Amino acid sequence: MLYDIIIIGGGPAGLTAGIYTSRARLKSLLIEKAFPGGQVATAEWVENYPGFEEGISGIDLSQRIENQAKKFGLEIIQGAVTEISLHDKIKKITLEQGQVHEAKAVILSVGANPRPLNIEGEMKYRGKGVSYCATCDGAFFKGKKIAVIGGGNSAIQEAIFLTKFAEAVYVVHRRNELRAEKIVQERAFSNSKIKFIWNSVAEKIEGEDTVNALFIKNVKTGETSKLDVNGVFIYVGYNPNTEFFKNIVRFDDNNYIITDTMMATSQSGIFAAGDVRAGSLKQIAIAVGDGATAALSAEKYIEENF
Ligand code: NAP
Repeated sequence: MLYDIIIIGGGPAGLTAGIYTSRARLKSLLIEKAFPGGQVATAEWVENYPGFEEGISGIDLSQRIENQAKKFGLEIIQGAVTEISLHDKIKKITLEQGQVHEAKAVILSVGANPRPLNIEGEMKYRGKGVSYCATCDGAFFKGKKIAVIGGGNSAIQEAIFLTKFAEAVYVVHRRNELRAEKIVQERAFSNSKIKFIWNSVAEKIEGEDTVNALFIKNVKTGETSKLDVNGVFIYVGYNPNTEFFKNIVRFDDNNYIITDTMMATSQSGIFAAGDVRAGSLKQIAIAVGDGATAALSAEKYIEENF
């Protein structure tokens, strides 16, 4: 089936692009490998998205954007894209199960995945105490002790959320200063359940059936110590989901897609939006703006080329 536009990735950037392209009456398909909403759907609470003065849960916000896009006719399917190939001006998109869809223009809004720490025990205890999603797994740690690794917005916001369940949350950060927004830091510093372990890195996770210890090293003194915890939540940034687009569009050194200000990639007719873009500040409001821009650019591209 030939679409005008295929959008790959159903986070805020992709869904917003879908709202715009559907309203432009372009035949639009969005392919999402998991569930619409992307990372936002796993955020417990979103407070900085305009229009929701009391805040809104990540899942609620995602569903609203998805419903809005569907209302205007965006078709959404589940599937993992394994290849994009170019045939003349038509782009062919192959899914894992073998189906092929064609489009005049493509928007890549595939976002990024939590970056692993790559320490001993991390893979072994994934789902058995090691997690990258507090909203998904926090409730399993009622009355337990948890370590959160990282000092950015994700780590600190989710550490605060985890205090709803945990007896204590240790934030292990490699420096002595957080990267998170100041308002988020203030809340964490005034939360008596959160203890900060500064200048320290996680070295090893141990357990039996499930996690029972995290070994950390103080980077200033070289001293190692053991934290008795049942959960280790890792928030040390993200890697872009771009491995299948390597030969199609240009990446920066960290495999993020390079675009111009109109979201055009190095490949004519292929646009990128949201967290997957090189230099993106990774905010929902920014992803939404990228999505709208990519959609308008793709519309213009189709008008001029088909
Ligand atoms: P981030 O801002 O890149 O922070 C990653 C944290 O992990 C940093 O504190 C970093 O330490 C630490 N880190 C990185 N590699 C490490 C390693 N190998 N070992 C130990 N620590 C390591 O990532 P994020 O918190 O996931 O946020 C990603 C983006 O999403 C950011 O732009 C953030 O603002 C945005 N975000 C926004 C919100 C919001 O607006 N409410 C919520 C969540 C995320 P250093 O500080 O020393 O570099």
